[in-house]
Order: sequence, then C-alpha cells, then structure tokens
Amino acid sequence: RRLIMRELLQRAAERAGFTLGQPQLDALQQLADGLIALNQHVNLTAITASDEIAIKHLLDSLYCLRVIEQLPSIQRLADVGSGAGFPGLVIKIARPQLDVTLIEATSKKADFIRQMVSELQLEATTVLAQRAEESGRQLGMRESFELVTARAVARLPILAELCLPLVSVGGHWLAQKGADYTDELSDAAHALDVLGAELSEVIPYQLPRTATPRNLLVFRKVRPTPPQYPRRPGMPAKRPLQAG
Ligand code: SAM
Repeated sequence: RRLIMRELLQRAAERAGFTLGQPQLDALQQLADGLIALNQHVNLTAITASDEIAIKHLLDSLYCLRVIEQLPSIQRLADVGSGAGFPGLVIKIARPQLDVTLIEATSKKADFIRQMVSELQLEATTVLAQRAEESGRQLGMRESFELVTARAVARLPILAELCLPLVSVGGHWLAQKGADYTDELSDAAHALDVLGAELSEVIPYQLPRTATPRNLLVFRKVRPTPPQYPRRPGMPAKRPLQAG
C-alpha cells in the first residue's frame, strides 16, 4: 500500500513537471504515514486514505511550485493556517533551501507539524502556534516574506488581511482555491486595494482522479500595508474588508 502511494505520487508529480529526488519522496511518504497514524487518534484532516493523501494533500501542495519556480528571488516563505502542514511543509520538503514559517492557530495541529519537522530533521523551519493576525503585527514577521501561501483557510476578503501584512513589498501572496473563486475575488477588490496588493495571475490546474478544477491565485504586493492592519484576532472574519 505504501509502495502504491509512493508510485502514484511520483508518477503524478512527474506528469505535472515536478522533479522530486528520493530523499523528497521518502520525506513525503513519512509525512503521509505520520498523518495516517495521527488520524487514528485525532481527526486532523478529513482525508485519510493514502492515495487520497497523495493526490489531494501532497500533490495539490506541490502545485505551488509552479508559482515558486517563476519567482526565483524567494528566500522566506510563510504558510498561513497550515493545518497539518499544507501546503507549507510539503513545499519545504520539495525545496529545502527555502526558509519556511508555518503559522497555525490550533496548537494540536502546530504540534503535529513540529513533530514532523523534527522527525524529518528540517532546518530553517519555524512553526508558530499563533493566529496570523498576531504574526502580521510582529517585528521580524511583518512585511518580511517574499511569498505567503494559504490553502482552505478563509474567503479571500478575510484571507487577504491574514496574509498580505506578512508579504514584503514586491513580494507575492498565493491563495490555492477551487473552481468558484470569482465571487470571492470580486468581493476582495476592496481588501486588496486597502492592503496594497493587485492580482497578478490565475493559474488553473487539475488534480488526477478528481473532477474539480483548482486554481492558484497569485497577488503582488505593490504598496506597504497601512499600520492598522491586520486588526485584532477575529476581526478580519467578523468584519471582512469589503466595500459597501
Ligand atoms: N491549509 C491546511 C490544508 O489545506 O490542509 C489546513 C486547512 S484548515 C481547513 C484551516 C486551518 O487554518 C485550520 O487549521 C485553522 O486552525 C487555521 N486558521 C484559521 N484561521 C487562522 C488564523 N487567523 N491564523 C492562523 N491559523 C488559522
């Protein structure tokens, strides 16, 4: 079963144009094993079958490389609302030279990521059990990442306030979304304007064995974020930055 998952992942990744060495495949396998083991105790993610983990978590996260490979100047990456490490931990495994910070509000989930980081002996990886609203106000974090990623955390008008304060001016924010992002995107116009970003690209893709289209929404930070953002924890979701 483990062999099937590994082969499935390797073939799917190759077909998508991602090269993974044996150490990367070993580490991704270890992450999947850790997730399966943990799910027997606590329900950390809804996806538990190993081939589903390979496609919907690992491969889906690897698709972020499409954006990373276009942006060669990235050194520091932050992943907001990582959950069990997606996409941030997978990106770190695939591109170990990146300095990666994983921000996850639920300590149980952050603990799992920490455990994997230590098992996989990953260097230059920081796991923070905190809310992105707090990280975005901290010196050394605010406007200090060339790329901030997020998958399945919040609607775009809210997510913009969680992610954009962390992005350096000239840097990018990458939101992984499903098929129906257009309403969210138009609702986010005001937030983008206020927080200092512009849509730069939408990269559509499709995961094997699934019918649903996926999209990488890439935003470029063009101006500094005003100091009053992010607002205090909970506010971005309670009163999303939306015009009218
Ligand atoms: N990104 C992961 C994935 O795609 O599998 C997890 C998705 S899960 C649906 C959303 C995660 O975002 C949860 O683990 C939650 O604790 C975290 N989260 C939500 N709001 C957050 C915030 N303001 N700061 C940090 N983490 C947050």
